[in-house]
Amino acid sequence: MKIIYNNIIPFKGFRALTFCKWIFARKEYGELPETTVNHEKIHIAQEDDFFIPVIKYLIFYIWYGLEWIFKLPASLFGYNAYYSISFEQETYEHQDDLEYLKNRKRFAWLKNIFKLRK
Ligand SMILES: [Zn+2]
Repeated sequence: MKIIYNNIIPFKGFRALTFCKWIFARKEYGELPETTVNHEKIHIAQEDDFFIPVIKYLIFYIWYGLEWIFKLPASLFGYNAYYSISFEQETYEHQDDLEYLKNRKRFAWLKNIFKLRK
């Protein structure tokens, strides 16, 4: 895991983004807080849930995108598609617990697959 501070990735308005084993962070927002780093580390653990080298990243991003698309219509009823993505539900629930990754169960995000968040 490496944090790459730059002015391009992610797009303006976003603070950090995980791509494969790297965390990209916008330089203008300064050093990432520990909880944000933990959030991104949990995403890396979620990518690792899919085992297969290289392909695990593809599966993660395709799943992430599809789940966002499937949950998008729920926004008509006041839910937030981004916060409803099962991966995001796990990260937001545990990002403040810096010890979480030590005891995290593989595929922990799966329990959120049918849950929606506001
Ligand atoms: Zn996230």
